[in-house]
Amino acid sequence: MENRNRQVLLKRRPTGAPTPADFEITDAPLPDPGEGEVLVRGIYLSLDPYMRGRISGVRSYAKPVEVGAVMEGRVVGEVARSRDPGFREGDYVLGGYGWQLYSAVPGQGLVKLDPREAPLAAALGVLGMPGLTAYVGLSEIGQPQRGETVVVSAASGAVGAVVGQLAKREGARVVGIAGGADKCRYVETELGFDACIDHHAHELGTAIDLACPKGIDVYWENVGGAVQQAVFPRLNDFGRMVMCGMVAEYNDVEPRPGPNLMSAVRRRLKIQGFIVSDRWQRFAEYRAMAAPLLKSGELKYREDIVDGLERAPEAFIGLLQGRNFGKLVVKLGDDPTRR
Ligand code: NDP
Repeated sequence: MENRNRQVLLKRRPTGAPTPADFEITDAPLPDPGEGEVLVRGIYLSLDPYMRGRISGVRSYAKPVEVGAVMEGRVVGEVARSRDPGFREGDYVLGGYGWQLYSAVPGQGLVKLDPREAPLAAALGVLGMPGLTAYVGLSEIGQPQRGETVVVSAASGAVGAVVGQLAKREGARVVGIAGGADKCRYVETELGFDACIDHHAHELGTAIDLACPKGIDVYWENVGGAVQQAVFPRLNDFGRMVMCGMVAEYNDVEPRPGPNLMSAVRRRLKIQGFIVSDRWQRFAEYRAMAAPLLKSGELKYREDIVDGLERAPEAFIGLLQGRNFGKLVVKLGDDPTRR
């Protein structure tokens, strides 16, 4: 075990796209667990688009990260010392320890992980918050029916990949939208979507018309921007638009003009936003459904693993520009289950 901790702090609130200068990498004393706490050594840190909202200081559904504080984020780690009788040294746990190598946290609220069930990092993606997001939004809002057409943006990403695969299991025709030929190839050949449109290469409207000859019944919105502008007028009567996120707009300084909503009246659309944290109670149900599919290889996923805490700011900046390919994870330290 190291005898120092290393952390990434929010140095200042970014305006527009974050830059490395908005973050500070610093050393700190190794935290000492108090009664009922455990010292966790981080192994994998999850980087997620929602973090852009947390550093903007704008009122939202969750408290912002304060300037000078450790960046927040979910981490899978190993218990290095325990002062909680419920945990032993060597246990693997999931919790919100932030962008740092070590953390002393109350045992209460930690989730124990069994590496025999799934690779540890899966708890941050396909079997974690992004997977649950896909499950909740699809089952409660999108509700795809057999033969309907579902369009998913950021289709190769953590949420989009699960959305498309679950919609396929419901018998829908599933069309992905992703950035670049490699991502599209992966979405079609590995994830099994019926088609995938490269939003960098194609005139989007025409490409959507070709890929969705019967229009669109469900649009899973992950990105906003030009993709949303192209998809919205192509929604069918009684179409559903699952408002999951609009990552292409998270760095905007001014809000963009939205689509003309009169079409929602004419087409009797249902447009509904949701936040996965309102549905944690469905987590066990999601895991019970998804874990066996993962084990049997029916549910596929891809991780983009970046090595070293120091690279977290740069990787996060890239996530907001589509540079990741799959669930973005930072490897903080040795994963003993992968030796
Ligand atoms: P991803 O793994 O999908 O990574 C983000 C992807 O978004 C990129 O790979 C890129 O895909 C696309 N993207 C990023 N920047 C841009 C840009 N400037 N223009 C166009 N596309 C861009 O992330 P997640 O799966 O974790 O998240 C997907 C969405 O889901 C986000 O909007 C996120 O905020 C939202 N979310 C919402 C939750 C909720 O509770 N409502 C919970 C979790 C996530 P490509 O290159 O293919 O375009």
